[in-house]
Amino acid sequence: MPELPEVETVMRGLETVLTGQRITQVTLARSNLRFPFPPGFAKRIEGRLVLRLQRRAKYILAFLDGGEVLILHLGMSGRFTIIDVRGRMTGLGEFYDEAATPDSGKGPHDHVVFTRADGLRIVYTDPRRFGLMDLVAEEGLGTHKLLAQIGIEPLGNEFGAVYLAEGFRGKKAPLKAGLLDQTLIAGLGNIYVCEALHRAGLSPKRKAGSLVKKSGYDPRLEDLARHIRAVLTEAIAAGGSTLRDFVHPQGDKGSFQQVFAVYDREGEKCRKRGCGGTVKRIVQSGRSTFYCPKCQK
Ligand SMILES: [Zn+2]
Repeated sequence: MPELPEVETVMRGLETVLTGQRITQVTLARSNLRFPFPPGFAKRIEGRLVLRLQRRAKYILAFLDGGEVLILHLGMSGRFTIIDVRGRMTGLGEFYDEAATPDSGKGPHDHVVFTRADGLRIVYTDPRRFGLMDLVAEEGLGTHKLLAQIGIEPLGNEFGAVYLAEGFRGKKAPLKAGLLDQTLIAGLGNIYVCEALHRAGLSPKRKAGSLVKKSGYDPRLEDLARHIRAVLTEAIAAGGSTLRDFVHPQGDKGSFQQVFAVYDREGEKCRKRGCGGTVKRIVQSGRSTFYCPKCQK
């Protein structure tokens, strides 16, 4: 499943072919993805200029010149393929899938095709169809049902120890659950939380509120915030990761999984110098947590 760094990577790839470009045709192969397309979806986009793109949590937002915003979510298996006028293809966010067929724009899982004025096509393929597309007025974006409850961006300016301390104060939930709370932090997922907690030397099982004192907060919250930013920034620079074959805009596979310190490394030696511990896997809120019990307290 694409996490924040993968969505950022796909968004940056789409920027190169959409920003400043006019979409002249939108072809839908079906009436819904996860949800039905909104009324008049294709007609409302056709003829519009794409002013800019932005990522918000795991949503990609395309601001159109008519005042509407196209909201895209890749779900579990969504990806884009760019097909230029000569038929050359570039994949954006391709996840390994046995059932996948080449994204010709006519394959069984090619659900939406956006065509630019110059004939370049952007094909949306989604075998599992958990992705979604919606179209809303820009002023309604903040109150949109999918976006209204989302917390702040972990790479934004507001994010830091002070913000975490406010969010965690009095919380008895495990630290990992606190960090995965999407109403607190937007788009932070399982892999990157495991990696950041390992770097910060904090146990995923300790109470989130245990890092907040009456008089202030534990200085390790500063480390945690810094490591969250670093892990995400490194993953974006590496073109994402996700398990299987994530392909970034230049067509190379994302490489961040090669540097996972704990994620998916159960039973292996802790990579922290001088630790000597063994990576353990536990299940928290139905999801695997990987951590080193020796150096994460
Ligand atoms: Zn360790």
